Amino acid sequence: MNTPDSINLSFLKEKLSRLNTQRTNYIISILHGKEMVFGMPLRVYRKCGKKNCKCNRGKRHGPYPALSVNKQGKQKIVMIKKTDTSSVMYGAEIYKHYQLTLAKIRKIDKDINKILVQLKSDTTSDYIPK
Ligand SMILES: [Zn+2]
Repeated sequence: MNTPDSINLSFLKEKLSRLNTQRTNYIISILHGKEMVFGMPLRVYRKCGKKNCKCNRGKRHGPYPALSVNKQGKQKIVMIKKTDTSSVMYGAEIYKHYQLTLAKIRKIDKDINKILVQLKSDTTSDYIPK
């Protein structure tokens, strides 16, 4: 077995350590235990359907709070009742943060895996008896 000089182990250690720290911070940021609402918060503008209304000339009504919900691959817009707005939007904002953070964690997982697979291939050779 050999450790080729071209591999800068301290650089890799530093990079992996940095990724791990980021990963841990992301995980901690979503370990809040707060109640979330399923769906991405959204502001919707609408036409009312009245013939002479300003919304027919481009100035739509709104914004109205809503959720963009994905169920079994189908995108759906769910309007939020006025009385529920603050609590639902709050829960949905937390859900959105959770989802975005989860994506960042998965990206870091991929990056770490790539480095480790590369390191393995760079430092492993076949044993061929002579
Ligand atoms: Zn209108």
